[in-house]
Amino acid sequence: MRQSQGGNVHAYLLDDGNGLTLVDTLFDQDAHRVLSQVQAIGKTVQDIRHIILTHAHRSHLGGLAELKKLSGATVYAHEWEADIISADRRAQPVSILPYPPYRTYYLQIGLNLNLAKHKPITVDEYVHEGDRIGPVQVIFAAGHSPGHLAFFWPERKALIAGDAVCTWPTFMLGWKGFLLNPKQHLDTLLKLAEYDSEVLCVGHGDPLPTGGADRLRAALYKK
Ligand SMILES: [Zn+2]
Ligand SMILES: [Zn+2]
Repeated sequence: MRQSQGGNVHAYLLDDGNGLTLVDTLFDQDAHRVLSQVQAIGKTVQDIRHIILTHAHRSHLGGLAELKKLSGATVYAHEWEADIISADRRAQPVSILPYPPYRTYYLQIGLNLNLAKHKPITVDEYVHEGDRIGPVQVIFAAGHSPGHLAFFWPERKALIAGDAVCTWPTFMLGWKGFLLNPKQHLDTLLKLAEYDSEVLCVGHGDPLPTGGADRLRAALYKK
């Protein structure tokens, strides 16, 4: 699912035949895009059993409060993001210096100044590397933020990289202006490239339907 607001932000609805797992919640607070997609695949909002957050940036938290209320799903995040999701702490400010892609600079300033608020929600469960939620394995993928997570669905060879990788405006190993810890980020990318992924899903931009691992490895070797 996508929306142009929030930097062409994407969220992912996973159906493994045993309830739905939602990764991130798009930008809109009323969650209407997610709700209509649930309906489009013949499900109801109560079929959402798990809501997992890649990290606590506003673009990914928009529909969270509404979706939790309507679905009763368990909400999962890393503990380094959970107190931002519950609004007990603000997201760490990113650099004010402009970095390419410049089309994302307005988002960078918004995050730096903490302009966009979200409805606070208490995270139900903290998750760690190796945990399994619905069909996916949890990968600790810090760098973009301290508790950033990625997910791998082995049966589908699908890697959900969150904001560690983006495909909008072009394929990049993350938006540089948003990077809190470059060393951690590089370790994360090397780890993500080890997964045998075909589908590569990202937080901003369309997913790559095939060749995900090859694309990641090629970009890393070029670095
Ligand atoms: Zn982010
Ligand atoms: Zn993002």
